Amino acid sequence: MAKGAILDQHMKRVEWTNTLVLFFFHLAAAFAIVYLAVIKASPWTIGLGVVWLACCSLSITAGYHRLFAHPTYQASAPMRVLYLLFGAASVQNSALKWAADHRLHHAHEDDDQDPYNIQKGFWWAHIGWVLFKSPPSDPRLVKDLQRDVLLRLQHRYYIPLAFLMGALVPAAIGTAWGDPIGAMLVAGFLRLVLQWHCTFSVNSVAHLIGHQPFCKRSSARDCFLTALITLGEGYHNFHHRFKSDYRNGVRWFHFDPTKWFLWTMSKVGAVRNLRRTAREVIERAKREVRVRSRRPVPVRAFNHRD
Ligand SMILES: [Zn+2]
Ligand SMILES: [Zn+2]
Repeated sequence: MAKGAILDQHMKRVEWTNTLVLFFFHLAAAFAIVYLAVIKASPWTIGLGVVWLACCSLSITAGYHRLFAHPTYQASAPMRVLYLLFGAASVQNSALKWAADHRLHHAHEDDDQDPYNIQKGFWWAHIGWVLFKSPPSDPRLVKDLQRDVLLRLQHRYYIPLAFLMGALVPAAIGTAWGDPIGAMLVAGFLRLVLQWHCTFSVNSVAHLIGHQPFCKRSSARDCFLTALITLGEGYHNFHHRFKSDYRNGVRWFHFDPTKWFLWTMSKVGAVRNLRRTAREVIERAKREVRVRSRRPVPVRAFNHRD
């Protein structure tokens, strides 16, 4: 096929809305850094950026992921509303679409139907899958979630909510100290781009780098570095093996702030029925991995011509 025709085919597959949105926000985030360095760096604005980053990140980790995609606990209506508002500000799709993609990822780990299949390479799993057209999500995957009116409303008004919570509300708060533009740039756009790459690293880094103590069948790995920047989501090997568990870092000392947040919320009654996998089941999985990895490697594995 001629080079021009191949290029034409690739261009037809580009998801232009996503690509332009990503490009614009990366540009806006770069401008936010210039704004902080050259124009104004109010500590209040930076503080708001940190608070917004924490709220939005928790909405994805504790909300979109551990509540909606995998029902690992139950949450009160006010908690679900907060997750859905700050989740919209995270500009990662509505909770319904996010959960459908994520359930597909778990059901088809490392094969062609996995939306962020790591077998297609690091950059595909990280960001490439967002930039190219993919088959529409199957609504049957999230039938249970569609029963929740709050999720249906967020899905319907996702774009205005994303504008409201991702840009307008931070700007309105920033007027309190005379820096609405700075607040929108820092808590809105710079925070968003940082948060994107942290979330994306679960699909890329945590499927490539780290240990596999619980399961070697999937590419998912426990990766402390990813846990550090994703409020604990980096313990991804445990998560892929035991996705119904509200914890990702299973040991008490594992850096999993999402788990600590949920535990704290359960003590004040905002969430309930946190699901845990029995210790014996976890230990059995670890033993199986150890036994399998001790098995002698077949001689033909060393034959490079295989
Ligand atoms: Zn998951
Ligand atoms: Zn994964």
